[in-house]
Amino acid sequence: MELVNLKDAQDTATFCEAVQRGLGKQQGLYFPTEIPTLENVPALLELPFAERSIQVLRALLGNELNEGELESIVQAAFTFSAPVVPVQDNIATLELFHGPTLAFKDFGGRFMAQTLARISAGKPITILTATSGDTGAAVADAFHGIDNINVVILFPKGKISDLQEKLFTTLGDNIHTVAVEGDFDACQSLVKTAFDDPDIREGLHLNSANSINISRLLAQVCYYFEAVSQLPAQAREQLVVSVPSGNFGNLTAGIIAKAMGLPIKRFIAATNMNDTVPRYLKSGEWAPKSTVATMSNAMDVSQPNNWPRIEALIERGYLDKASLKGECVDEDYTQIAMRQLAQAGYTSEPHAAIAYRALSHDLQEGEYGLFLGTAHPAKFRETVENVLGQPLSLPKALAEVAGKDSLAVTLPSSYAELKRYMLDSLA
Ligand SMILES: *Cc1c(COP(=O)(O)O)cnc(C)c1O
Repeated sequence: MELVNLKDAQDTATFCEAVQRGLGKQQGLYFPTEIPTLENVPALLELPFAERSIQVLRALLGNELNEGELESIVQAAFTFSAPVVPVQDNIATLELFHGPTLAFKDFGGRFMAQTLARISAGKPITILTATSGDTGAAVADAFHGIDNINVVILFPKGKISDLQEKLFTTLGDNIHTVAVEGDFDACQSLVKTAFDDPDIREGLHLNSANSINISRLLAQVCYYFEAVSQLPAQAREQLVVSVPSGNFGNLTAGIIAKAMGLPIKRFIAATNMNDTVPRYLKSGEWAPKSTVATMSNAMDVSQPNNWPRIEALIERGYLDKASLKGECVDEDYTQIAMRQLAQAGYTSEPHAAIAYRALSHDLQEGEYGLFLGTAHPAKFRETVENVLGQPLSLPKALAEVAGKDSLAVTLPSSYAELKRYMLDSLA
């Protein structure tokens, strides 16, 4: 697989190099120089998830990673299902939250962890990342117990839900968690400073594991194939997929799946009030506003970091601009959608509800709609209980960690303190 830096055409990388580098020069994103088309999609759709995923990934990876390596990565990463659940006559949801941390980020996080563990050949690596919720949990769980890889996760002390915090601070072993006395931006700026500090970057072999890593996207391509494999034949001909979007990694993966030949007629990019992309698709003007806080907080992003990849997919002819529509859903309609889904017998949470609302609003006669369910409703328990006016029970994974103690250390928002902590506990 050859990738090119979207900001510097001279900067190319193999898949394994791009996984280890994360970003290219000038913070540019790596993008495949070519997306292969699959000749045998109907036959692929008959295969079980893991077997099909190996073939889809093989087409993308070319001769990188041998058969045994790819197979063991997929078998270790994709250990849970992604069921399609019908909610109305012509609408279903793809539930992507049956992994260990109950959000779709488990797919990408686990695939990345398994890939890095194999390609780093025992060389020690430190993953340093800041989280405001779901990513930290997925990354921590995915890397927990992997030899030679240490993980340091910074989060804003007291600013994420207790349950979210427990999902990654109770693991221990190679997972080091730091509650920073500051907000999320303070955490991110500490991470940036660390990446600029050669003592830490080279001394501890830093890698960021964030959502721009190409391995995460490739993993996500696989579940779009899984979704279509579960749909009835007539739905496959007129399929509209609605993606609740924040940094737009999920949608990028869906467009790559379509470019490879998966029958998807068109996409809806559904956002909350942070609607830079829907406004851009209507007006052609890129005009981010400052980020506002919403119920669907994993999508509170006004400068989505994967957007240049979607631009590239359009520019290079992999997606007709007419097959992508943006829809912004405000807080009232998010609640209305959650209640409508509950009336149809389906308990949802704000992110998926936004995708459902955009879809049911936009779906045309004869089309079949699929919206992505990106998180388990219990992850947003308080909001869901408030909106639906009913108690929600906790799934096993959350109930178990809820009773454990957090192992996080607290540090002031100071780079000197973070550096000392990292050198003391990791070097
Ligand atoms: C991360 C996240 C999203 C947004 O996904 P992107 O790939 O960043 O667009 C949506 N819903 C939930 C629950 C998430 O955790």
